[in-house]
Amino acid sequence: MKVLVPVKRVLDYNVKPRVKADGTGVDLANVKMSMNPFDEIAIEEAVRLKEKGAASEVVVVTIGVPKAETDILLTARAMGADRAILIATDDEVEPLAVAKLLAKVAQEEQPGLIILGKQAIDDDANQTGQMLAALLGWAQGTFASKVEVNGERVSVTREVDGGLETVDLKLPAIVTTDLRLNEPRYATLPNIMKAKSKPVAKKTIADYGVDVAPRLKTLKVVEPGKRQAGVKVGSVDELVERLKGLGVAK
Ligand code: AMP
Repeated sequence: MKVLVPVKRVLDYNVKPRVKADGTGVDLANVKMSMNPFDEIAIEEAVRLKEKGAASEVVVVTIGVPKAETDILLTARAMGADRAILIATDDEVEPLAVAKLLAKVAQEEQPGLIILGKQAIDDDANQTGQMLAALLGWAQGTFASKVEVNGERVSVTREVDGGLETVDLKLPAIVTTDLRLNEPRYATLPNIMKAKSKPVAKKTIADYGVDVAPRLKTLKVVEPGKRQAGVKVGSVDELVERLKGLGVAK
């Protein structure tokens, strides 16, 4: 069984985002970019399935800038992916268009399982996996904290409000990863060196004949409001009095 893992290049999670002066978006010039952390978890899971003998090949795909070939797609191959597909574009692509492109890749590659991150930490959309499942007509197990492949089926334990839910899906299926699914391995230097010889297929959006015209318009991006400075109170009684003043306590 082949496993397909879509990965997105995002602002590194350690970087504090700066909003552009004209309010049109986040400034990405000269800042560190990395693989979306949930996608590292997705690769780790796919590689573990291969190590267990449940998967035969791990293919990663990204829709993004050409530079992705030498950063996130290299990391992905160093972590254990066998090959990569780069669908190069300098434009931002919305989740629906990403899902349409991934559906085309799935039709070509015929994977048994597609493992995505539950969300990309840049726009927190949490849409692509669900839309992809709908477009392909496949079953989906989202927010996975455990994945077990049993023959023609996959059992996915999901983190839901108030507990865990386990769903049993027929393959081919879509899984999206939650934080507790696994702890991704590091891409070591020797593996990064070896990964350079693993193939990357270079494509463009035009190769897939998909309409990626934006459906959404960003009106304005603003910095979060600054927090007001706190006040130290002398006693519990004073705290209660102040809370009463705010209408919080009675
Ligand atoms: P989102 O729906 O944007 O929050 O993204 C959810 C997941 O979809 C990500 O964790 C990736 O696995 C995948 N994804 C989103 N955008 C892209 C992209 N441009 N290229 C490849 N995979 C993507």
